[in-house]
Amino acid sequence: MAQFDYDLVVLGAGSGGISAVNLGLNLGKKVALVEKNRIGGECTWSGCVPSKALIKAAEAAFTIKNMEKYGLKTAASKQVDTRKVMDHVRAVIARVYEEEKPEVFQRKGIDVYIASPSFVNPNQVKAGERVISSKRFIISTGSHPFVPPIQGIDTVRYLTNENLFQLKTLPGSMVIIGGGPIGSEMASALNRLGVKITIVEQASHILSREEDELAEMLMKRMVGEGVKVMCDSQAVKVEKTAKGIRIYTETPRLGVRKVEAEQLLVAVGRRPNIEGLNLEKAGVDYTSRGIIVGRTMRTTGKNIYAIGDVVGLFLFSHMAEYWAAIAVPNAVLPLPVKKRANYKNLPWSTFTDPELARAGVTEKEARKSYGDSIRVYRYPYSGVDRAKTDMTEEGMVKIVTTRRGMILGVHILGAHAADLMHELLMVKTLGHPLNRVADMIHAYPTYGDAIKRPAARFYGDKLRDNPVIKIIQKLRK
Ligand SMILES: Cc1cc2nc3c(=O)[nH]c(=O)nc-3n(C[C@H](O)[C@H](O)[C@H](O)COP(=O)(O)OP(=O)(O)OC[C@H]3O[C@@H](n4cnc5c(N)ncnc54)[C@H](O)[C@@H]3O)c2cc1C
Repeated sequence: MAQFDYDLVVLGAGSGGISAVNLGLNLGKKVALVEKNRIGGECTWSGCVPSKALIKAAEAAFTIKNMEKYGLKTAASKQVDTRKVMDHVRAVIARVYEEEKPEVFQRKGIDVYIASPSFVNPNQVKAGERVISSKRFIISTGSHPFVPPIQGIDTVRYLTNENLFQLKTLPGSMVIIGGGPIGSEMASALNRLGVKITIVEQASHILSREEDELAEMLMKRMVGEGVKVMCDSQAVKVEKTAKGIRIYTETPRLGVRKVEAEQLLVAVGRRPNIEGLNLEKAGVDYTSRGIIVGRTMRTTGKNIYAIGDVVGLFLFSHMAEYWAAIAVPNAVLPLPVKKRANYKNLPWSTFTDPELARAGVTEKEARKSYGDSIRVYRYPYSGVDRAKTDMTEEGMVKIVTTRRGMILGVHILGAHAADLMHELLMVKTLGHPLNRVADMIHAYPTYGDAIKRPAARFYGDKLRDNPVIKIIQKLRK
């Protein structure tokens, strides 16, 4: 039998890769990690961690600016020192990286190679000068920002998430091309830190894949805070000016418009990191979207699995981790039945302020599958006492269910939306109807009211429509 250096080698040390090697080690396997740059990947260096640190700083700035609404006066400066804010963001990155340094993995017994790997054959990769052999591989090399071929884009200096968090200070103004999750989060935060923001978005509103009415509510709120949003607009040309950049946009009814700013942030999509891996030598097929995998996360190469952004399906850290928990056991254990990914109960959130969280399908998608038998329950944050005490009354919970109350979709715009969503997601995942939430006692006053109330409304509807109760009521009359 062939002898290999390792049971499992993981290529790429981001959210997916880190989870995969840790799990491989826990399962008693000899594992190694090959990373071409720095352990931590996008999440630590240019994604989740710095963006959330920046968002928190922006929230603090916003709270201080609006202190009077809580009856407070402060002598403290309301000025934002953006140099210090950016230093703070990088200090948070450094703190997270403390737990991700190569030594941390080596101490646990995981070999780390900092090199660009390239397949020699399905069981060997060349990493620098060394050739490493392994029975199984997991590819988790992530993705990079897609920069669209806008005329003149290569003649200007622009930002993406890869260099945004390395800025020493923040500019006075910025155009963001793309009102998706990254563009919207950064717009919401940077605007509060004093950057004049214009979003150029080709759809009719930002976050076009989210529940329309909630995304529109969020956009209204951001516009109210000073963000300019150019919807139905395509960026067609970019040029340098003395002070920064000028962007030409095309909008069906308004024609060509110009917008100027000191900086440009491009946030329009992602492409998989597959260059240099020599996937052909390993028999691993891919498209421009990413490596092709089935539900077991196996690629077209029999002993090779792929997880995370590089598969181009759902580009979230939690999905990279979820897939690692599927791919690793499938790869290294003789399971009688392979584990398979299930996307029915997939959550995500955009961490604007307020947050917009989602699990399951939108109302439109539900109508396509279930017709008009679905039920839709809405509840505004303005009806939640805790939101009143916290002055966070803007927002809404929207729950889409079957006629029998089985949850199809959860959409929450509001304070703590992402955390709040998980209670409903748990009920959905366990296959219980919405009234189970109404049965549960929620502590008062909490944001839990925002989901308990619509659940109680469903429970009321259920009792009202109960044929036995209807007959008894009729007889009594
Ligand atoms: C601004 C921003 C904010 C985000 N916020 C969130 C959030 O709040 N929540 C969330 O769930 N997701 C968020 N994401 C998405 C999240 O960062 C990614 O989905 C996640 O990092 C993907 O993990 P991964 O392991 O697939 O890839 P990565 O974390 O990108 O890791 C890939 C690793 O592979 C390395 N690599 C690349 N090519 C090679 C190669 N050829 N050989 C070896 N190594 C290679 C890279 O250097 C990197 O270390 C955000 C993304 C951005 C850009």
